[in-house]
Amino acid sequence: TGAVHWLFGDQLGPHFLTPGEDGPHRDTPLVMIESRAVFRRRRFHRAKAHLVLSAMRHRAAELGDRVTYVKAGTYREGLRKAAGERPVTVLPARGFLVGHQEFADWAEGRGGRALRQEDFYRRTRAAHDLLMEGDRPASGRWNLDHDNREPPPRDAGALDVPAPYRPREDAIDEEVRHDLDRWERSGEVTFVGRDGPRHFPATRREALNALRRFVSDRLATFGPYEDAMLTADPVMSHSLLSSSLNLGLLDPAECVERAEAAWRAGEAPLNSVEGFVRQIAGWREYIWHLYWHFGEEYRTTNALGHHAPLPDWWSDLDADAVTAHCLSTVLAQLRDTGWTHHIPRLMVLGNYALQRGWDPAALTDWFHRCFVDGYDWVMLPNVLGMSQYADGGRMTTKPYASGGAYLNRMSDYCSPCAYRPDHRTGDRACPYTAGYWSFVHRHHERLVHNPRTAQAARGMERLKDLDEVLGQERERGDAAP
Ligand code: FAD
Repeated sequence: TGAVHWLFGDQLGPHFLTPGEDGPHRDTPLVMIESRAVFRRRRFHRAKAHLVLSAMRHRAAELGDRVTYVKAGTYREGLRKAAGERPVTVLPARGFLVGHQEFADWAEGRGGRALRQEDFYRRTRAAHDLLMEGDRPASGRWNLDHDNREPPPRDAGALDVPAPYRPREDAIDEEVRHDLDRWERSGEVTFVGRDGPRHFPATRREALNALRRFVSDRLATFGPYEDAMLTADPVMSHSLLSSSLNLGLLDPAECVERAEAAWRAGEAPLNSVEGFVRQIAGWREYIWHLYWHFGEEYRTTNALGHHAPLPDWWSDLDADAVTAHCLSTVLAQLRDTGWTHHIPRLMVLGNYALQRGWDPAALTDWFHRCFVDGYDWVMLPNVLGMSQYADGGRMTTKPYASGGAYLNRMSDYCSPCAYRPDHRTGDRACPYTAGYWSFVHRHHERLVHNPRTAQAARGMERLKDLDEVLGQERERGDAAP
């Protein structure tokens, strides 16, 4: 008997089955394994468990007789059931633009200089001919960020763009929900967050619909408000494509090619298209390669020596326990959908944890479990490196810690809030502003020696009410702000 090919739950698109150097032969039988142990070990967001199982079961239904779909206690047990004594093949990871050797050559060519995203991105644009005119970037500029990153339109409430594509649930979703209910009732598995209706694509067809709708309806306005946040409009012009890319339902090449085609057809301006291409061909690829490049010990990196545990209200996504309007809004979005865009992740959630010195590995685990698009490779660099500075600056030149003023500028969260972004002390002291100074105080020595943060560290020395700020923060402890 020949080999069987094990198809993983993040390899659900057609490009994982193209016969080729490493793809399975057309006649090779496939196995897919649903392991209950994965859910028993960790407390996932229910919407995420639902999405992953629904996507796997939908793919199995499409593949029909070619696949043996096994529901088992563990992967080992599943493999034994599905393959018996037969050899099992797996695919080297696919679904990225840049190959491992290509990245290794670039990293080596840096001769020990920092591996900056911007440099990697420019190289990838040129090497893969994305938004290029000959060997020059389209319009002569690599980076149009200064046309982007605008605060949200004031008094608008929501961006004036059509609502995003949302899939319709079917019988497979119903069956998944029934199974999850059953597991929960038996006490075998516990989840966090709410499940349903399913917001994200589970099939290739749904994912293509989502991509098409994004390119036609929201790509044009993607750039300017990329970093802005609105209470009533959590999605704004974001693509909502991360879970589809990470499940393997979409290939990054087709996403950036469609965006570029929209620009060439005059349907979307360059600043928006460049911003989107940068997210996928720049950030996503960079994060993936750093994960492999940094290796296993990156997981335990903790340069700031942060060890505080996550409080229960946070782990339980208990948005109602939180008074600070930004944090309660974002926690509620997460609780209800398993998704928020990158600035709430970085500047509302990550920033809060960083200020309070929470354990970066525990926080990474929390992000992984609670976000529909969370996987080990994408969470480690994003949370440990980018958001918690736990790697001491291998990814970013300074910690992403900031006070309430940033949130006030980039969102409409502050006006209805019980706290004021410019109050450090007293009943209305903004927990982000006070938390920022307490963070600067805790790491003063390090920050004063970094040219990018020295000014903030010096600013702290001039605060007359610093003791009061620190005292109040100590008193708050890990209570919900
Ligand atoms: P858009 O804003 O529309 O961006 C387009 C695409 O670019 C995304 O779909 C995504 O595939 C890609 N992308 C952009 N930035 C990144 C990045 N830093 N890393 C990887 N891909 C990126 N993204 C994940 O896919 N999974 C995660 O678990 C994840 N965790 C994050 C944790 C933190 C603390 C931070 C700061 C960012 C994280 N990101 C993660 C990146 C980013 O926030 C999400 O990809 C994005 O918000 C998903 O929404 P979207 O598809 O609408 O993205």
